[in-house]
Amino acid sequence: MRVWIDQDLCTGDGICIDHCSDVFVQLEDGIAYVAEAGQPLNDPGGSGSLAWVAPRNVADVIHSAETCPGECIFIELDDPPVEPVDELA
Ligand code: SF4
Repeated sequence: MRVWIDQDLCTGDGICIDHCSDVFVQLEDGIAYVAEAGQPLNDPGGSGSLAWVAPRNVADVIHSAETCPGECIFIELDDPPVEPVDELA
């Protein structure tokens, strides 16, 4: 699962950081950004602003998206693993 924030809609209230400070950070501009391995991804609108979510943070990130007053946390579900096709069956 990956997550990104539309900074144009963020109110800067910090609710997402309260829920999951591993994934969400607030920078000097007062706006929330996603982070990966502790590194903020501050490339709004760019593909570099999409952060991978560790399994231990999935529930908190979903809760953050559900409660975000700006409705600006977006979750991208990764494709499920493809089952190998047994061509001899
Ligand atoms: S909860 Fe939403 S609106 Fe609030 S700081 Fe986080 S991303 Fe911004």
